[in-house]
Amino acid sequence: MSCFRPEMQPREPAPIPVEFKNGARVKANGVEPQGVYLPNYNILTPHMRSPEYVQMSTAAAITLGVMKGRMYRCTCTRCLNLLLTYPEGCRANCAYCGLARHREAERDYADRNFIRVDWPAVPLERTIDIVAQDGAASPFHRMCISMITHPRSDEDARTVLKQWTDRIDPSAIPVSILSNPTTMTREDVKRLHELGADIFTVALDAATPEIFDRTRGKGVQSPHSWAKYWEILMDAREIFGPQKFGAHIIVGMGETEYDVLSLVQKIVDLGGHSHMFCFFPEKGSLMDHLPATPREQWRRVQLGRYLIDYRGRRVEQMKFDGEGRVSDFGIPQGELDEVIDAGIAFRTSGCPGKFAEDVSACDRPYGDSPPSNIASYPFQPNKRDVGKIRRQLRIVERKH
Ligand code: SF4
Repeated sequence: MSCFRPEMQPREPAPIPVEFKNGARVKANGVEPQGVYLPNYNILTPHMRSPEYVQMSTAAAITLGVMKGRMYRCTCTRCLNLLLTYPEGCRANCAYCGLARHREAERDYADRNFIRVDWPAVPLERTIDIVAQDGAASPFHRMCISMITHPRSDEDARTVLKQWTDRIDPSAIPVSILSNPTTMTREDVKRLHELGADIFTVALDAATPEIFDRTRGKGVQSPHSWAKYWEILMDAREIFGPQKFGAHIIVGMGETEYDVLSLVQKIVDLGGHSHMFCFFPEKGSLMDHLPATPREQWRRVQLGRYLIDYRGRRVEQMKFDGEGRVSDFGIPQGELDEVIDAGIAFRTSGCPGKFAEDVSACDRPYGDSPPSNIASYPFQPNKRDVGKIRRQLRIVERKH
């Protein structure tokens, strides 16, 4: 039932003039960083490197208190996501990603938008100082180290983790690793576990090997391979154990709903979880000319994934039409209504925080949609939101 949608084809990356390659501009200017750096395309980007510097999402920077701002219907985020940073940036070229290498000529790495927002750069020591001082009052329920494809990212991920756990009890604020399998060995996975990481995730992103190759492998001159990602995912399964590993999947890059939900089932059968993103055409990416995932498709996949991940339902119990769309979730209407009304299925998915196993700490406010047409709800949807979700699902409101 798998299908390959040619219209979701990334555009070709343009050649990069040598003077812009590998962060040459930032390294040549050698501007000394002065504390927190807010992305600014109009000034010379300072020379910042991990492990001394890390980038964090706008939501995390606001919550940490190093940046001013407010978020629509959210007071804070519960996940402090720390992204490794180098002037050379990520050496991969994933077609949907704002951090990809093909942007070298256009934007310095630390100034690139990623999942729709800016990522301020903050000294690691200052970040840890603030969280350590806040102690039990910290708003963060989890920290996540996001590795990128760079020759130093394995060693620097360990350094960041070690510096964090030296000051902050990982049982108070557990740490997740968003890995970069391409440069990793089984030994690297083991060492992160020994250093106190709690959950290990692999960003498969693509739901099928063909889409993987087209969007983050040979199709866009990027170094990743489906086989290597699965090798590290299976290492993580053994080393981190059940419920402590997972995969990221982006919905709407040309796969069918059946493809995604089959993958979700496979990961659950292995003992892990899937964390989902709705495809959004990231500005400056090689897929910025393509349409965002239709809401009805996204909602069906969100609901199906929640039923498989948290309600013990199986993809084999669901029915799909000739185009791989869910036509029946395979559960009694009353139970389906109850899950829809609870709203949790439509919240951002990710590693858990302190509220409940099925509520993600990582709420990524508006990382996969604008606030005007929310894909992943970074807060508990209210009755009105649920009404909108039902209309998007084309499931009429329940009569009480
Ligand atoms: S490896 Fe990750 S950060 Fe690098 S381009 Fe691909 S998705 Fe973006």
